[in-house]
Formats: sequence, C-alpha cells, structure tokens
Amino acid sequence: MSRSLMVTASASPFRPAAVVPTAIIDLSGVGKTYRTPAGDFAALTDINLTLPGGQFLAVVGKSGSGKSTLVNLLTGIDSVTTGTVRFGDTQLNGKSEEQLTAWRGRHVGVVFQFFQLLPTLTVIENVMLPMDFCRVGKPAERRPKALALLDQLGIAEQADKLPVDLSGGQQQRAAIARALANDPQLLVADEPTGNLDSRTTAEVMDLFKSLTRNGRTVVMVTHERDLSAYFTRTIELEDGRIVADNRVGAQS
Ligand code: ADP
Ligand code: MG
Repeated sequence: MSRSLMVTASASPFRPAAVVPTAIIDLSGVGKTYRTPAGDFAALTDINLTLPGGQFLAVVGKSGSGKSTLVNLLTGIDSVTTGTVRFGDTQLNGKSEEQLTAWRGRHVGVVFQFFQLLPTLTVIENVMLPMDFCRVGKPAERRPKALALLDQLGIAEQADKLPVDLSGGQQQRAAIARALANDPQLLVADEPTGNLDSRTTAEVMDLFKSLTRNGRTVVMVTHERDLSAYFTRTIELEDGRIVADNRVGAQS
C-alpha cells in the first residue's frame, strides 16, 4: 500500500507556506458498516466533521470505538458506506481504488504506530518512494530532497542504513520524513507515539505542531491523555459516534 505522497513545487521540503493550499476536509453524514460473517457491524454512525486547514486534531476513544476507521476514511484508504467525504474540491466517494491511490499520494501523508518502513530499502530509499511513485519532481531532485527531509528530522546520517539498524525513534522519524515527501496537505498519524519514549514523543509532537502552522492539517489518533495540550481540537469517539468535540489546548 502506498502511504503519503505529494506534490511539490518547492525546493524546500517541509516549509510549505507557499506550497500547501489550505484544504477544508468535510465529512457529512458518514457511516461505515463492515460486513462480517456474524452480520453487518456499524463501526461509524452519523459522523459530521469539518476540518479547516491548520488544525491539529486528536481522535481519542477506547479501543474499538472507530478511530482507525475514521482516519482511514479521511485518507481514502477505506471508503464510506453512507455519506460523503470531501477534501477541498475533491469528493472521495465514487473514486476508484486507482484514483484514490494516486490522489492520496499527492495530498495525504500517513504515519503508523509500527512505522511500516520497507525493510529491504534503505532509509533514504523509503523516503524517496512516494516521490517516485507519484512522479513528483525530477528524478535527480528526489534524493537531495529526501536527504534534506531526513536532515530536518535529525537523522541524515542514517540515510543509507536499513530500517532494522535504526532505533524505534529514528524509524518513526524516517516514517514521518516519508509521509512528508510529497508535501501533503493532510498528515494522518494513527497512534504514532505508541512505541516511542517520552522525549522522542515530545519531539514528534513538536514537529507535527509546526506542520500545522503552515496550514497543514494534522489528524492524530492517540490514547495518551498527557498529549492533550498539543492539540487545537479533540474529538472523542464512542461506539462509532462522536460524543465530545473540544477545542482545547491551542498553543499556536
Ligand atoms: P479503534 O481504532 O478505535 O480501536 P477501529 O476503527 O479499528 O477502532 O474498529 C472499530 C470497530 O470496527 C471495532 O469493533 C473493530 O473490530 C471493527 N472493525 C474494524 N475493521 C474491521 C473490518 N475490516 N472488518 C470487520 N470489523 C472491523
Ligand atoms: Mg485503531
């Protein structure tokens, strides 16, 4: 599966002021039902959510409440059963898998709890992958751009190593660099700090926060209550419904 992707007219990897147009993301009347052998299961019901650019949104809730399902709808990794998902001028419903994959590659970066770097590629090759996949920029520009991203994340010296030779924190930074490779408008992170120590967690949170200052939207699933001060908004899911929606802790 592809993850982030992007479009970059800029020479500077993730200083996107002039590069990332603000996209309003809007979910309207969204429901998601999974078909299971035991019958249909409603994982999400009547979700209405509008995200202007620049928000740092936390999605919280118990295990099984629908958090991953929700963020997978935002990225087009999964599709709604009812309702609509709109991303700027683009309506995601009704697009084919191929169209969604291509779209995602240019507009969305995804970071996972377990990093999901490709083990047989070096770190820098992992970061170049979304650019190659979406044919973003000239081929000769991709390696320098990937290296610049790794440098901004403090792991340039790890560029030619395999993921297995990096610490967990370094692997997550590499995964974030890969998610930013195509300068996405939306970064989605599903429990990205679940395997990181507290210092690395703080660094990752500061980085995400900085991304929102340029109009990017960052949506993060988390269990960790003590991170709440970073977010500009927190929604809580319970049994597939939004039961709380708080704009808190805005520190920007
Ligand atoms: P969370 O991320 O909050 O733990 P999920 O979005 O992963 O929750 O799952 C919400 C509910 O939907 C859970 O009950 C889960 O078992 C169910 N679910 C998730 N994915 C599938 C699937 N592919 N098929 C059937 N049920 C699923
Ligand atoms: Mg989950």
